[in-house]
Amino acid sequence: MAIIEVTNLHKRYGDTVAVDDVSFSVDEGEIFGILGPNGAGKTTTVECVEGLRVPDRGTVTVLGHDPIQDRGELRQQVGAQLQESRLQDKLTVAEALDLYSSFYRQPADWNRLLEVLGLADKRNTQYRKLSGGQKQRLSIALALVGNPKIAVLDELTTGLDPQARRDTWDLIEQVRNSGVTIVLVTHFMDEAERLCDRLALIDSGRIAALDTPAGLVSRAAQEQRVRFRPSAPLDDDLLTGLPEVTAVQHSGQQTIVTGTGNLLHAVTSVLARNQIVAADLRVEQTTLDDAFIALTGRRLDTE
Ligand code: ADP
Repeated sequence: MAIIEVTNLHKRYGDTVAVDDVSFSVDEGEIFGILGPNGAGKTTTVECVEGLRVPDRGTVTVLGHDPIQDRGELRQQVGAQLQESRLQDKLTVAEALDLYSSFYRQPADWNRLLEVLGLADKRNTQYRKLSGGQKQRLSIALALVGNPKIAVLDELTTGLDPQARRDTWDLIEQVRNSGVTIVLVTHFMDEAERLCDRLALIDSGRIAALDTPAGLVSRAAQEQRVRFRPSAPLDDDLLTGLPEVTAVQHSGQQTIVTGTGNLLHAVTSVLARNQIVAADLRVEQTTLDDAFIALTGRRLDTE
């Protein structure tokens, strides 16, 4: 069941078209990703969902409400991650959570949130004394303190070290498992691939593709590559004769076979029939990164 519906959303700032006819829906209980390079229009899109921006055209419905007209009601049900340094430096973690809880009719037990987020021992620490990772985790706690039905998390793990990123991903999965629908804005491919049930690739204000991570990869995966070192000389014709194979190349002792369909099975069957062992066998899969390039014509990380 869709709990967020965005239809033909348009938003410009002066001459800049930030969002250009974006439509998508988010189902209850999913982690929905919005992935794209900086400036693609991701934040503007979610700010329209949160009722922080007024669309120029198009409609947005969140839990059956209009985010602008019913902003007060939706604020109770949609938790948003604060952008950095919106908190006063001298506020302690406990004071910030107390303050934010007071905005909600049914706040969560924030002591528990701190336990889950690994911030329990920072309760009395001032905001300015927290590390980047701790500030980030506090911003997640603040997004969840109102017991929201939907949490909008924008650039969740920017600035975190690799371990803190993985911990944060585990946490987001726990949050989803507790029944919260999550909209995740990110420009990190690995994060999107790991967490999202479905994701919209957004580029220059438009949705280039919307699918599961695996679906996006398979759309782009026209070709695969199998690499190995044959244990005995191998006649290329044995491989090029296979319908799955489009090319055979050599690099040093390695044979590289490009093709489609069930390439790995076709290649290994031929090798087995000819009593050749494939050492260092590797299959090079298409990644979400490759999919982004195939679907938008450019790399995600060139900014
Ligand atoms: P993203 O979140 O994908 O980085 P944004 O939605 O923040 O993208 O921005 C989309 C485009 O709109 C960018 O070109 C950005 O410079 C521009 N933009 C965003 N906010 C404003 C604003 N308040 N005023 C003018 N231009 C803006």
